[in-house]
Amino acid sequence: MSFSDRILAWFDQHGRKNLPWQQDITPYRVWVSEIMLQQTQVKTVIPYYARFMASFPDVHALADAPEDEVLHHWTGLGYYARARNLHKAAKMIVAEYNGAFPRTLSEVMTLPGIGRSTAGAVLSIACNQSHSILDGNVKRVLARYLGIEGWPGVKAVENVLWEHADALTPTSRTHHYTQAMMDMGATVCTRSKPACDRCPVQVDCIAYASGRQAELPGKKPKKILPEKSTIMMIPMWQQQALLYKRPPSGLWGGLWGFYEVDTPEQIPDKIERLKLGTVSQQPLPVFRHTFSHYHLDIQPVILHLSQPPQSMAGEQVQMWYDLTQPANVGLAAPTKKLFATIGKHL
Ligand code: SF4
Repeated sequence: MSFSDRILAWFDQHGRKNLPWQQDITPYRVWVSEIMLQQTQVKTVIPYYARFMASFPDVHALADAPEDEVLHHWTGLGYYARARNLHKAAKMIVAEYNGAFPRTLSEVMTLPGIGRSTAGAVLSIACNQSHSILDGNVKRVLARYLGIEGWPGVKAVENVLWEHADALTPTSRTHHYTQAMMDMGATVCTRSKPACDRCPVQVDCIAYASGRQAELPGKKPKKILPEKSTIMMIPMWQQQALLYKRPPSGLWGGLWGFYEVDTPEQIPDKIERLKLGTVSQQPLPVFRHTFSHYHLDIQPVILHLSQPPQSMAGEQVQMWYDLTQPANVGLAAPTKKLFATIGKHL
């Protein structure tokens, strides 16, 4: 039996068929799921997906929504560029395709946030077209099965994997094959301890034959992450905290966060600029937020105001966020974390 026949036979018996995005299949529903699943596991995605679909049931609803509301639905999922791109792409689909998801690979790949693999997955799963995919799961299965050396983050290694992905993808039942390969990577050929005894392609798998499952695919070269630090100021008046909307691009772009300074000596100046009046400072324990390229040590400092805040009339980028009635806005990850724990310090 060919590779794809064995994968399809396995899918018929063991593949996942009851995930929310596998019901009422449309390109929109599959697209949203693929974007959510890019860096996040299925069980985490499910409740986010349900809430997202309840609020934005179709591409028009998403395109019409304010960005803050879209980011709010993403709060906690991380990698917020995904949400901003999803929103931008929805607007493009409405403006340029009259709300109908484009049907060619090249058109889909021009939408923000959609690369070749995601485009292939949406068109094969939702439109039953024959396109290969190469997400993290598929890379792992193919690198092990074919014994392909090197870290797939290197272009040359990725190109070799794409060639094999193209050659192995069948022209019929591509939608099931695509789903099956994702499932295989997520449930059988897992990152650690793959279940080779349950694998439909074990008989000619090179990693299995040579006992090299742990070495393939090749690991990303390790680098020591630099450490940075910041002070987050949390002006509080009664149960309200002052936030500002971060610029649209860059770290936590478009999300609401706390004002920051580099050193404690800069706090008084910032207090004056923000017209906070007399405050008493209350430092909270430092905590670490790790990004892919550095660690950020965050020193939160609550600034208790002694009089009501001055009016911010005309100020578009600030908000007094009421902890007792949280606004539906996207929060930067540390902001969300601090709000979850701040109550016990007040
Ligand atoms: S035999 Fe093991 S390593 Fe090879 S593809 Fe199957 S699960 Fe992965």
